[in-house]
Amino acid sequence: QEHTRFDNITCKDLHFSYEDEQILSGYSISVPKGSRVGIHGKSGSGKSTLLKLLMRFYDADQGSIRIGSREIDSINTTELRDMESYVTQETSLFHDSIANNIAIAKPDASQSEIEAAARKASLHEFIQSLPDGYDTMIGELGDTLSGGEKQRIGIARAFLHNAPLLLLDEPTSNLDSLNESIILHSLEELGTDKTVLIVSHRESTMAAANIVYEMSGRVS
Ligand code: ATP
Ligand code: MG
Repeated sequence: QEHTRFDNITCKDLHFSYEDEQILSGYSISVPKGSRVGIHGKSGSGKSTLLKLLMRFYDADQGSIRIGSREIDSINTTELRDMESYVTQETSLFHDSIANNIAIAKPDASQSEIEAAARKASLHEFIQSLPDGYDTMIGELGDTLSGGEKQRIGIARAFLHNAPLLLLDEPTSNLDSLNESIILHSLEELGTDKTVLIVSHRESTMAAANIVYEMSGRVS
């Protein structure tokens, strides 16, 4: 029901700086509802910053972000969090079972929902190979897992959360090409049900997008 309010995203003339460092100076981008949009560009050009503005970790200094006709700052945080799943390179993990680590975004999820999300994130077979399967405890901060396994837990969370907008920041950076292609295929299978904004340096990941934007270097 709250999802029905999700719509096209329009970022217009965004200006943003951290302290005195200008990162965005007039950036505009449109993300049509139901599309998969890729953003690539140089390191430091502001790609992660843009996703953080969409999450409202920060507010732009100038310009606007609209979802449909609504300004993002007029949408309350709970509604915005329900609309958005955000996957970063650094997945934070908890000393708990791997199933509960996936279910963070949906604590009432059933085992079969957790498993379906793990399959989409190319994680199911790995989990099954663990001594206690989905009940296997993850060590403090996930130090028993590889970078790619942690990353896939973050992606499984997003699939389970099932929000209308997925914001993916370098989601495949630690993955081999087989895991990458399984996840990209899962994203493609979402079809026009979901809107996906994916930041990546990898050509292979950009190939899964139907619109690609370049984040031009910041003006300094
Ligand atoms: P990469 O491809 O390396 O991930 P990016 O395009 O995602 O780069 P951002 O993380 O958005 O780049 O950072 C843009 C610029 O802002 C960089 O110069 C970075 O050093 C700076 N920056 C990022 N976060 C902060 C912060 N919290 N405080 C100050 N400066 C920051
Ligand atoms: Mg980044």
